[in-house]
Amino acid sequence: MAVEKFVGTPKKATTHTNQNEDLMFEKSSPGKKAYRLAQLDVPSVDSVALLGDSVRTDLGVMPELSEIEIIRHFTRLSTWNYAIDLGMYPLGSCTMKYNPRVNEAVARLEGIAEAHPYQPESLSQGCLGIMQTLSDALIEITGMDAITLQPAAGAHGEFTGILLVRAYHESKGNPRKKILIPDSAHGTNPATAAVCGYEVANLKSNAQGMVDVAELERMVDEDTAALMLTNPSTIGVFESEIHKIADILHAKGALLYMDGANMNALVGKTRPGDFGVDVMHLNLHKTFSTPHGGGGPGSGPVACKKILEPFLPTPIVVTKSDGKLGLEYNRPQTVGRVRIFYGNFGMFVRALAYILANGPDGLRQTTEDAVLNANYIRAKLEGTFDLPYKTQSLHEVVFSDKLQAKNGVKTGDMGKRLIDYGFHAYTVSFPLVVQGAMMIEPTESESREELDLLIDALKQIAREAEENPELVQTSPHTTRVQRLDETTAARKPILRWRAPVAPEPVLVDTAAKEW
Ligand SMILES: *Cc1c(COP(=O)(O)O)cnc(C)c1O
Repeated sequence: MAVEKFVGTPKKATTHTNQNEDLMFEKSSPGKKAYRLAQLDVPSVDSVALLGDSVRTDLGVMPELSEIEIIRHFTRLSTWNYAIDLGMYPLGSCTMKYNPRVNEAVARLEGIAEAHPYQPESLSQGCLGIMQTLSDALIEITGMDAITLQPAAGAHGEFTGILLVRAYHESKGNPRKKILIPDSAHGTNPATAAVCGYEVANLKSNAQGMVDVAELERMVDEDTAALMLTNPSTIGVFESEIHKIADILHAKGALLYMDGANMNALVGKTRPGDFGVDVMHLNLHKTFSTPHGGGGPGSGPVACKKILEPFLPTPIVVTKSDGKLGLEYNRPQTVGRVRIFYGNFGMFVRALAYILANGPDGLRQTTEDAVLNANYIRAKLEGTFDLPYKTQSLHEVVFSDKLQAKNGVKTGDMGKRLIDYGFHAYTVSFPLVVQGAMMIEPTESESREELDLLIDALKQIAREAEENPELVQTSPHTTRVQRLDETTAARKPILRWRAPVAPEPVLVDTAAKEW
């Protein structure tokens, strides 16, 4: 089976679940049902007479299957996905940590799961309490003064945060034009600045992968609205001159935005609010263990200093004069709403469960374990892979494919090969400041045993790159589908199924015809 597809004897190797699976439409046969109803004991109603034109007659081909066929279909499909409950995701910058079951247990409590956003405030005190307690906890963790929980993702938080920056400068009668962004930034940062109407000025990193402070000093002027900085940076390095960076910006009236997606390295150890940050977002789906990726939805709260508080999106949770909690909408300087209702409430519940289950000492330990795990991998793989930045790593470590590229094996090849060993790929080719980057973030979730398996697999892959480069270049070999044509998959995805012979009436759209 898979064994001859490996050089040596890896401790962990996997063949993916490989059952062929037709589409539901292809399995369908007329008359099958997944239900059986009791005989009608009331007069039947003609739906067309009742609903007129609103009745849809253009449903086209609908699959007809029994219950067990549907259950098996979706269960099999679910096994094709890699998942955090199956194994490790060493995806750097993404913080793919375990989603503890206690989060789910709490989120499923009836009063929480079935609360309705239109419920009167008097019946929503518990939910408002969850929002307020989470807000207080996040304010304490970040050292900021105020927060909105509304944004639905990290990038959405960036957008909201930069809207606050814009509103702030406009309120001073001094709209500024540009935002500085280091070359190591996550791609969402320049995109956010541009979407908010700013010019993006690129700030070069120094040899340690940090902000070049002298260059920053030269670039900041009266037209600079803010610097958007990820700290620790995307190479997992803490900006040791962060106080100085904040001072340089503030001296020119500019603000410091922190992309807080990497807070997993800081929680319980240091607080952005204490080192000069004016506004930042958090990713509850990273640092605070709510589901990430397909399991989302995400949540990207934005915390800010007092000077930005008047501009926060509405509504915000307040304690009223009678001691009850309520929602305040009347805030004349607000940037407006960025999301329906109050944000992804279910994620607030999970994040708060995680925070309370850990407590302050547990959160601090989490940070320490995440940093320890990354440094363990760094120590074990240094030498096997090139380490471009020697600066001390925090929660993630970035190697490069320099040593393997000599044999024509690139980071993308090794990332795909890792799939054959039963791991999700690390982050390939990012950050852009490292040519052939291999970015690994183990998170605190992984045990030493699991880390050793990953290290073993990566060492084997490095050996394969020496002895049998083609094996790596053509991987993965054990998956259901092998190398995809990524360009065609991105540019011409096939997004819908069409009946081979379509009975009338049928839905046809022109886009689908081309594909
Ligand atoms: C993940 C991430 C983002 C974007 O967060 P999304 O929730 O994916 O929109 C922004 N910056 C950094 C550094 C990140 O790691």
